Amino acid sequence: MSDRESELLASVPDRLFIGGTWRPAEGGRTLAVRDPATGAVLREIADASPADGTAALDAAVDAFPAWAATPARERGEILRRAFDLVQARKEDIALLMTLEMGKPLAEARGEVVYGGEFLRWFSEEAPRVGGRYGANPEGTGRMIVSQHPVGPCYLITPWNFPLAMATRKIAPALAAGCTVVVKPAELTPLTTLLFVQLLEEAGLPAGVVNVLTTSASGEVSEPIIRDPRLRKLSFTGSTPVGRRLLEQAAGGVLRTSMELGGNAPFLVFDDADLDKAVDGAMAAKFRNIGQACTAANRFLVHRSVADEFARRVTERVKAFRIGRGTEEGVTIGPLIDQRAVDKASTLVGDALAKGATLETGGSAIEGAGTFYEPTVLSGVAEGSDILREEIFGPVLAIVPFDDEDDAVRLANDTEYGLVSYVYTESLARGQRMIERLETGMMGLNIGVVSNAAAPFGGWKQSGLGREGGAEGIHEYLQTKYTLTQNPFG
Ligand code: NAD
Repeated sequence: MSDRESELLASVPDRLFIGGTWRPAEGGRTLAVRDPATGAVLREIADASPADGTAALDAAVDAFPAWAATPARERGEILRRAFDLVQARKEDIALLMTLEMGKPLAEARGEVVYGGEFLRWFSEEAPRVGGRYGANPEGTGRMIVSQHPVGPCYLITPWNFPLAMATRKIAPALAAGCTVVVKPAELTPLTTLLFVQLLEEAGLPAGVVNVLTTSASGEVSEPIIRDPRLRKLSFTGSTPVGRRLLEQAAGGVLRTSMELGGNAPFLVFDDADLDKAVDGAMAAKFRNIGQACTAANRFLVHRSVADEFARRVTERVKAFRIGRGTEEGVTIGPLIDQRAVDKASTLVGDALAKGATLETGGSAIEGAGTFYEPTVLSGVAEGSDILREEIFGPVLAIVPFDDEDDAVRLANDTEYGLVSYVYTESLARGQRMIERLETGMMGLNIGVVSNAAAPFGGWKQSGLGREGGAEGIHEYLQTKYTLTQNPFG
């Protein structure tokens, strides 16, 4: 580990942040955060108990009335200062993400830009919430529609985008006037701790944001979710955990937002520009080492161009450089843990057993860290597990199709509906795909769709609600309708 890495790690808070105070977990318990490229322990941090969870919720409840009453402009200005501080600390945040999550440094810098944008976007949305006033249709009264913060929120984030998944929830919640308890993933909590330190520096009052790091997510979260003082749960993670949390939330009819799993189809028609499609495929598949909910999972390619597409993507994949994300020129880092490597191995094994052709890769890499070779499979048979399950790894699976109906049938044949990618030079076909694909988001001749100004979210079992865009702040607001008399009698 370099001196710069050690210094940065030593500067990150290692405690819980509750009511404006950094404090140890009950009983002084700690958990280890590791570098997935080497397995080395990066930092020992506080490991919260259920009692710590209750204390964090107490703090969010206490801070709520004053924060909700703070003028929207003032709330927005704190977010804007946080945006500036994130820009100023871009290199530190990027390095920290690479250390705890493994993504190449260039991608981590990209995430600082993307994640930071939620702070700027919602700093601007805070004063624009507004309301409505107007005559009722009968003319007998005046209708007022006003928006109010929902109250204390619990925000649970995954490990794959440690900054952006936190800012995408925290920024709209604070903009709306809500207070929060944040629980980052136990594999990558350091980025959230550093970010919350910046929020404190930006002038956020005590108790508005509270952070729980824990290795006991289930035990700590359930009492918080079942507590009647909690008014909102926002979760990003896997569909199975999301389902379990929805069951817990049902008891109190708790408002929820769920950003869950995906199984994105990437359609390449015979009228596509193959150069564009190959560039898009690299971004849609290998960004974040394939560990994105928006990662293309199934490459559905017209039979007449399938071989050529496979040849070109294979050539590009063979040129990747694998290694620790901090090393110059590395394009593929480690997977997050051994479970992820085993999953990729199992899915590739099943696809090969069912008749797929291995174009390149196909094996875990021996030695320190949890690396899996970037892999291309062609001729993947329908019924292969890899077409049903989220791969969450650097494996590109190609399935040929014969015509547009066939492509649409295959694309929609999944319980998920987060994002789809379509490559065609035909405007009419592109428009038909907008109508026919069961998807919350779509990249038309483009391989990355995420943007702070866009309503991010899925159809079907990919989730509930939207994050970002004009919609994002409304997840944290509740509507009140008031009828008043006609002032003219
Ligand atoms: P995960 O579901 O295992 O964990 C997500 C978070 O939930 C973590 O903070 C984890 O500690 C916590 N958690 C786990 N079990 C819990 C429980 N019983 N109670 C409360 N909290 C619990 O998911 P992951 O492996 O961290 O992330 C990968 C998944 O996230 C993938 O399925 C991916 O598609 C999804 N994801 C979705 C989006 C989106 O916006 N739709 C974005 C990123 C990731």
